[in-house]
Amino acid sequence: MADGKALQDAFVDELRDSYDGEKQLIKALPKLAKAATSPELRETFESHLEETRGQVTRLEEVFGLLGEKARGKHCEGIAGIVEEGKAIMEEDFDDATMDACLVAGGQRAEHYEIAAYGTLVAWAQALGHDEAAELLQQTLEEEKAADEKLSAIAEGGLNQEAASAGRGDAEEDSGEPSSRKGMERNAVARPAPVKRSASQGSQKRTRTRRTN
Ligand code: FE
Ligand code: FE
Ligand code: ZN
Repeated sequence: MADGKALQDAFVDELRDSYDGEKQLIKALPKLAKAATSPELRETFESHLEETRGQVTRLEEVFGLLGEKARGKHCEGIAGIVEEGKAIMEEDFDDATMDACLVAGGQRAEHYEIAAYGTLVAWAQALGHDEAAELLQQTLEEEKAADEKLSAIAEGGLNQEAASAGRGDAEEDSGEPSSRKGMERNAVARPAPVKRSASQGSQKRTRTRRTN
């Protein structure tokens, strides 16, 4: 009756795109972790790597529920984001600036995935694949949490540290401006002394530290 392929076919195509994208990220995340200087940032990439492995398994479950073979279809979007990440890692940034750029690159991937899984959940619901929708929703929540964690790291001292390194005025650190001796304490413990009007990456403002 209908001409051409239907939403069900587009849904399976998008699942294949995400399946391939997650597999690309399993290769890329260890490189981001290795390039990170902040222990907190490294741990964030490493724990999201573990989550990403679970997301691949979850997609395989979804393919199974649909009676489809689990296979990927090259995701150009993640491929482009991964390429940009590689270019960042080849730059000669000071450590804090490199970390800030790794966050920026990581958040591009998370936002792409948030868009993809948001669509997949909505299409699964529209098509009546309730169990698949629930599984995809779990992944969507993980991608959002990863994005928010990256924002919290950036805004919790890292960006300020990078800005200070650029000015050569890193306080409480007598070493060279790009030294990260103070950074590791700052990244985990010191609240950002920054006022801002928007939160990095995520649109939500749940992590702001305003006292007024
Ligand atoms: Fe993912
Ligand atoms: Fe894609
Ligand atoms: Zn992710």
